[in-house]
Amino acid sequence: MRSLRTRLLVWLVVPLLFLSAATLYSAFVQTRDTSAAIFDKLLLTLALSISEHALGSGGDVLTDDLLEVIRITTNDNLYYKVVGPDRAFIMGYEDIPEPPDGIRVLESQIDFYDATYLDQSVRVIAVSSLVDRPEYNGWMTTFVAQTLHERRQFVLDTVFEDSVRTAGVVLLTTGLLAVGVTLGLRPLLRLEASVARRSPQDLSPIRTEQLPSEVRGLVISLNDLLLRLSESMSLTKRFVENAAHQLRTPVTALLPQTELALRRAESERERVAVSKIKSSAERISRLTDQLLNLTYAESIRVAKRNFPVVDLSEIAKERVALFRRNHGALPVDMQLDSAPIRGSEVLIGECLDNLLDNARKYGGADNHLSVRSGASEDHSFLEIADRGPGIDPQQYQRVTERFSRLDKTTRGTGLGLAIVKEIVEAHRGELVIGQGSGGIGTRIRCQFPREPSRDAGHSA
Ligand code: ATP
Ligand code: MG
Repeated sequence: MRSLRTRLLVWLVVPLLFLSAATLYSAFVQTRDTSAAIFDKLLLTLALSISEHALGSGGDVLTDDLLEVIRITTNDNLYYKVVGPDRAFIMGYEDIPEPPDGIRVLESQIDFYDATYLDQSVRVIAVSSLVDRPEYNGWMTTFVAQTLHERRQFVLDTVFEDSVRTAGVVLLTTGLLAVGVTLGLRPLLRLEASVARRSPQDLSPIRTEQLPSEVRGLVISLNDLLLRLSESMSLTKRFVENAAHQLRTPVTALLPQTELALRRAESERERVAVSKIKSSAERISRLTDQLLNLTYAESIRVAKRNFPVVDLSEIAKERVALFRRNHGALPVDMQLDSAPIRGSEVLIGECLDNLLDNARKYGGADNHLSVRSGASEDHSFLEIADRGPGIDPQQYQRVTERFSRLDKTTRGTGLGLAIVKEIVEAHRGELVIGQGSGGIGTRIRCQFPREPSRDAGHSA
């Protein structure tokens, strides 16, 4: 039973069911006993009438009037007999069973007992009275046996009605309890939703003001954990940042030295060895730059800076011009419409550099780049497409993970798209990877919330 809601409901509804069953049983016992008393009184009235008639008529059959009274009073079968002072049978059904312990006329003139007659369960009453007449003198006893259908039917009907009413009450109560439990658990669901909405980078404490006291303690402990986690993460980030900084200086110093050594190399063997050192130094230099970019982008997101308004089309113009200078042979189409956003020019430029670098590296032999920018009602976007083999849609998520590379034939650190994603999300934007037009190549779109105008940025 994993859900708290189900658990609470079971704890409430199971006792409710037991309680209802107990109430129903006690109502049944009470109905049975009360109805037995009432039906016995009715039987007594009938028995007195029959006894009076029998004694008065001196043993004649029952009159039509009396039969009519009996018919109106009960739907059950009635059997009677009258015995005289010496237990002599006078009239009626002679074989009606007598009380198991005999007739005790002096102790009680009225005696009720259960018996079986003509294979049916019957309730029997024995009424005794002292008669002083010429033909009979002494105690006469009238026995009246009545079948039990009417009593049983009455108890059954009453219990059925009680059961239906109780079931209705149980159902209604269960529904109300379900609603109550759901409403009661709402703060927990809200807490769940607010934690689920968080980005993985958001380690700020969860607000505890509106939480019920039962979960506040848990959330306070969680906040404590979040604090320690964020401290340990910022320590790790600072370590990576420091390490990259420390590495950068010697590597940057190494590069001109290797250039010089390459120029001065005297043999082919020496040239090959030095150029290997040079390319390794270049790779280390790129890695340290990428690591620094990544930690910088992360720190921006954490700080939630208030960026000025910049235009993606202008950043793109500048960066593509620089790209063309280095890779002039590669055709680049541009369609740059104004796309204002609030952001860091340096970081968006870094983003674009990485995307252009990928489009060049993975764009295949017959490559052709296209760079677009523009804006819709609420979004500004920047889009870079190439005409290479494209990325398998199942790998879209993977390629944005750190140090993840699909193409092992080219060189790279596997950090480019991770940096792009980090920067885009630091600007509250979204990175969308897809196919180029006609299903050829890769198109990567960085989409940001649109800023109404450039002027708004300067005044902000
Ligand atoms: P670097 O850190 O130097 O950029 P990288 O280019 O390998 O290294 P990413 O830019 O993160 O790292 O790219 C990750 C992987 O995604 C690449 O190794 C490549 O396999 C794939 N990829 C990225 N861009 C494209 C593209 N335009 N077309 C095809 N594959 C791509
Ligand atoms: Mg790359």
